[in-house]
Amino acid sequence: MVPRITATALALCLAAPAMAQEVNLYSYRQPELLKPLTDAFTEATGIKVNVAYLEKGMVERLKAEGRRSPADLIFTVDISRLAAAVDAGVTQPVTSDVLTANVPAAYHDPDGQWWGLTTRARIVYASKDRVDPSEVTTYEDLADPKWKGRICTRSGTHDYTVALVAAMIHHHGEEATRTWLQGVKDNLARKPQGNDRAQVKAIWAGECDISLGNTYYMGQMLNDPEQIEWANSVNVLFPTFENGGTHVNISGVAMTAAAPNKDNALKMMEFLVSPEAQEVYAHANYEYPIAPGTEADDLVKGWGTFTADDTNLMTLAGLREDALRLVEEVDFDG
Ligand code: FE
Repeated sequence: MVPRITATALALCLAAPAMAQEVNLYSYRQPELLKPLTDAFTEATGIKVNVAYLEKGMVERLKAEGRRSPADLIFTVDISRLAAAVDAGVTQPVTSDVLTANVPAAYHDPDGQWWGLTTRARIVYASKDRVDPSEVTTYEDLADPKWKGRICTRSGTHDYTVALVAAMIHHHGEEATRTWLQGVKDNLARKPQGNDRAQVKAIWAGECDISLGNTYYMGQMLNDPEQIEWANSVNVLFPTFENGGTHVNISGVAMTAAAPNKDNALKMMEFLVSPEAQEVYAHANYEYPIAPGTEADDLVKGWGTFTADDTNLMTLAGLREDALRLVEEVDFDG
């Protein structure tokens, strides 16, 4: 009998961690963005939040861990990364009235495999000294020879560029997009290199006049003593597609296929789309909240308003491979 009692006691001990009120996150997003939210969530619900901050390999890790993965939710940016997680089979569909009511249809998977939390626009940073804001109109116009030797951008194979190229394919088809991409390449002041902020630095240094970048980097640069000069040398301009709006992408969340704390994970997802959490999350990185009735922070609003392109994010994810192939065909980074 003794061994049996011991075994039962041991089983209870082992079961205890799984029964604790907690939720586990894998995040590509920075601690300073998530911390205010996880703290508020714990305060509101008593559920402890454990976060593993990863730099890369999230999908591979989830696949390797399989059904034993401790992760309940994954946090990342860009539809391509969310779609890659879904394609790898490491997510599960989640639906709830709260999520549906707070996340516009354009910003979540119809099956609930991923849910957008914030948006960011891919815009043009333009030299205050050398570019009149009215000169920047459409993404198509970036291939116009008037920009020859004046454009800086990051790699064509980066997810941010690939998503923009995918949207161009959606609007104009592959042939026209290849021509456009070649035109933009011909206008580059230097080979694609560095991140979005490095392009603004190049404008500040006089190497080029305009660059492509995400909106929130303006906020980040304005809050960095070294980069504030770069930020102050440019205007934030919102180009559109000729037959559409301004290109936007999302940051989002998905529930893992293994999710050991499914109920708590759903509570956290619903908390994240509440108007209060939405504004905290969006303001922390100068992004746009997406729940009805929420507003971007004053600095972000000061950059101006825009109409988001209505290309469905699933469409962008589906055109990703085609976009990457075109980038390689024109040897955009070469
Ligand atoms: Fe970014």
